Formats: sequence, C-alpha cells, structure tokens
Amino acid sequence: MTADCLFCRIARKEIPATIVAESEFCLAFRDIKAQAPVHVLVVPREHVGSLNELKDRAILGHMFSLAAQVVHAEGMSERGYRAVINTNDDGGQTVFHLHLHVLGGRRMSWPPG
Ligand code: AMP
Ligand code: ZN
Repeated sequence: MTADCLFCRIARKEIPATIVAESEFCLAFRDIKAQAPVHVLVVPREHVGSLNELKDRAILGHMFSLAAQVVHAEGMSERGYRAVINTNDDGGQTVFHLHLHVLGGRRMSWPPG
C-alpha cells in the first residue's frame, strides 16, 4: 500500500471508481478511458508496481479469478475478450500498480499497436 498510488487510493475508496467486482484480494473497476465497450481493470489490493515486482504469484490467480467473474457478469465468455498486462515503457504501462485489462464487446485486432 502506498499513500499516493492512484490504484491503491481507488482500492481504499479514497478516489471514486465504478467498481464492478471485489474479492478479498482484488478489485475490478471500469477504466476511465475505455478502449472497448467493456474495459475493466483488475488490481490487487496490495501494492505491486508491475509484473516485474511481483513476488507472490498467487496474486495472479486471484486477479484472473476475479477477471473470470467479470467476464461472466458482462456476458463476454462465449464471444471472447482480451486480458492484458502492460509492463514498463515498451509495454505501454502508465500506472505503476499492477493491473489486468479486461477488454471486450468488440472484435480485437492483432497485432496490438
Ligand atoms: P496502463 O497504461 O496499462 O498502465 O493502464 C492504465 C489505465 O488506467 C489506462 O487505461 C487509464 O485509462 C486507466 N486509468 C487512469 N486513471 C484512472 C482512474 N482514475 N480510474 C479508472 N481508470 C483509470
Ligand atoms: Zn498501488
């Protein structure tokens, strides 16, 4: 937990967000600048700067488990969706608290930009 980290502050409910699912370990909320009809971020409650800083790999299981709930709730499982973790500069990471993007509701292109 860090005082000035945006996603820690959202997790502590100090900054408003549209929360769509929660678990003991993680929180899922809508991305403020949605890139698809459904764009949800899944974050661990515990502060982890990026995938590179992750020590407890069980956190990934908790994140994907909550993502699966969101996918189900948003009705995306059959048509499909994309789950992405951007890391550092080349990966396009802009918020340095680990997060899983869950995007769906439209056809995704490949390769990503
Ligand atoms: P990344 O670029 O992978 O680090 O993703 C960070 C994401 O956080 C971007 O898609 C932003 O639109 C999103 N974001 C930034 N600030 C907020 C906020 N206050 N609430 C929800 N999403 C946010
Ligand atoms: Zn944080």
